[in-house]
Parts: sequence; structure tokens; C-alpha cells
Amino acid sequence: MHEVSLCRALAGSVTRASRGRRVEAVHVDVGQLRQIVPDAMAHAWVFVVRNTSLDGAELHLNPIPAVLACDDCGAEIELGPELGFACHACGSASTHVASGEEFTLTAIDVSEDLGAVKGEP
Ligand SMILES: [Zn+2]
Repeated sequence: MHEVSLCRALAGSVTRASRGRRVEAVHVDVGQLRQIVPDAMAHAWVFVVRNTSLDGAELHLNPIPAVLACDDCGAEIELGPELGFACHACGSASTHVASGEEFTLTAIDVSEDLGAVKGEP
């Protein structure tokens, strides 16, 4: 289940970036070509961060459409599951994926209030 390994890697990045502050939310750009199922990702996140310093942090996924760019005519076409990788404007096979492969941590919401930790030490 690749969502779990993605979440483990993400949790590691977030933990380093938060430097001990309490993390309230994590924002990630996810390209459609990554084949990530949002529900599976949400469940994997809760599983991975349980009983860690990130427990309770919300995961926000920002879907990025898959876009194919033509090297010959410059057209940009949004990729659907039924479409190939040839340009739909000129038929050229010289195309590249302009977006849709992202898995990028874009922002972390942290609580600056370190005194809000509940319970006895
Ligand atoms: Zn073209």
C-alpha cells in the first residue's frame, strides 16, 4: 500500500520542518498521475502519525491536474484516463508531462503556543 510509505516519508519531512512545534495541519500538492486515493491517503496518515508528535495533525491534499505539453505546437492538454500521450492539437508525439506528478509538501500549520500541552509531564 504505497499511501503508507508516502505518509511515512511525509511525516518525516513534517517532523523535521516543525522543529518540535505542534503541527495542526499539513498541506500537500498531489498530482493526479500519482494515482493516490484520497481516502486511502487520509487513513494511512492517521495510522502513520498515531502516537507520534504529529498525532492529530490534519492532512490536506490539493489535487493538481495532469497536463501534457506539446513540444512542437506548445498546446497544453489536460490528461484524462482515456487519453494517450500524443498532442491533440497537432498529433505530435513530442510531448512531456507539464504537471501531475507532484507530491509536494507546500505548507505546515503549526501552533506557536507551546504552553497548551495538556496533562502532567
Ligand atoms: Zn502539438
